Amino acid sequence: MSLCYNARLMSKQFIRVYRNLFFDEVKQHTLEYGALSGVCSKCKEFNVKLDALKCPQCNTPFKYIAFQNVREHLPKMIRISCERPEVQFIDYQDFKRIEGEQKARSILG
Ligand SMILES: [Zn+2]
Repeated sequence: MSLCYNARLMSKQFIRVYRNLFFDEVKQHTLEYGALSGVCSKCKEFNVKLDALKCPQCNTPFKYIAFQNVREHLPKMIRISCERPEVQFIDYQDFKRIEGEQKARSILG
């Protein structure tokens, strides 16, 4: 019996958990996924496929995925969490907010 089947049987659900992460590390390994395609957070390569294990441009492995619209992509999240249990989903708003703060700080010096 597959893990994915068990997950359904046990009615696994996504619940957001707050974790204390090193943003520099997260920023090196995140696939930001919008409506139709992804962007590599490291090199900003466009049109990265959701199933890409690493960036086709800079080769960074994707350890994190940030969906812009979780509700819309929930079936994809369920599939990915079955197929690639090592991938962690992070909150897109959190990611963008911290990225923006870092950018502002670097401009201010
Ligand atoms: Zn890249």
